[in-house]
Amino acid sequence: MDLPVILKLDALTKQFAGQAAPAVDQVSLVLHQGDLLGLLGPSGCGKTTLLRLIAGFERPQHGTIDLAGHPICDGPVWVPPERRDVGVVFQDYALFPHLCVLDNVAFGLKTQVRRGKLAAGQIREEATRAIALVGLQGFEKRFPHELSGGQQQRVALARAIAPRPSLILLDEPFSNLDVQVRLYLRQEVRDILKGVGASGIFVTHDQEEALSISDSLAVMRSGQVEQFGTPEDIYRYPSSRFVAGFVTQANFLRAERHGNVWKTVLGSFAVDAAAPAAAIAELMVRQEDLQLRPDPAGNLVVRDRQFLGREYRYTLTTATNDILYARTATRDRLEVGQTVTAQVDLNQPQMFAMS
Ligand code: ADP
Ligand code: MG
Repeated sequence: MDLPVILKLDALTKQFAGQAAPAVDQVSLVLHQGDLLGLLGPSGCGKTTLLRLIAGFERPQHGTIDLAGHPICDGPVWVPPERRDVGVVFQDYALFPHLCVLDNVAFGLKTQVRRGKLAAGQIREEATRAIALVGLQGFEKRFPHELSGGQQQRVALARAIAPRPSLILLDEPFSNLDVQVRLYLRQEVRDILKGVGASGIFVTHDQEEALSISDSLAVMRSGQVEQFGTPEDIYRYPSSRFVAGFVTQANFLRAERHGNVWKTVLGSFAVDAAAPAAAIAELMVRQEDLQLRPDPAGNLVVRDRQFLGREYRYTLTTATNDILYARTATRDRLEVGQTVTAQVDLNQPQMFAMS
């Protein structure tokens, strides 16, 4: 059973003056209560602009936005940002440097008081509650410069969730943090949002982050949503060469059609009904789909090996000097310079037209 729709975008379009193409182009999306939507795409594809439209910092030329069943942007209907019931966490934290943690978090609550949604006497209690939620109890009197980057970003999150908004928008919130902090904070932020039942949109250009944190995922390209689905579906069944390359970071092998098979440098694969009609196409082979084995007569050479803890990532070259990447368990270590054979395990070969 689907929970109620919290956010509905219909054909949302924003073109900045002097730009040849819209930054956000006919975007339609639906987000259900309590879900975390990942917005993934390369730099410049319109992610921030889409968040700013939802937050009300930008006004679209076309399209509509419904929040919790009410239009907040629809032709003449225009609800300004401070009345939108949306919390925002930016990449650079945007904390007030002259205010302590408690006052930073209380700031957004003052708007609630002005709008008659909260009694002035409750500000302190509500701010303290939000600070505890992000694990910063005891830090109320600290100033931003007395906190680490990860702690500052938690304060920004506390400030966004304190007014209990219908929707939280997070724009690349971890990109200024080092990788260790980023890894645990992303899980923590997901837990915090899930714990309070918040609905959120999480922008990132990092595919692993998007896959790991999102309930549903929208992959954007040039202002448009190229694919929308669960992280699993998008990873397993990318709908285009662009999504396949960006999300799965797969290898693409040149494939020549010979009757009922595609011939590639790593063997032949059956042609299925959905295959492109062309005589030449590209076969997607994920890095984990390659099983490598030492073989003096093999047609691949190991050029580099990276140790990633649980697995190795190998760089290989083919006889035609194309580069392939493979990830394998660390128990089977291959040496740089070694000649190997790859067995490719594909349930369902996925072909894309040549790009
Ligand atoms: P992303 O967040 O995915 O990196 P943005 O939404 O920031 O992308 O930008 C999308 C496109 O819109 C880019 O081409 C960018 O240069 C352009 N853009 C963003 N903001 C403005 C603005 N205020 N004025 C003009 N162009 C803008
Ligand atoms: Mg951006």
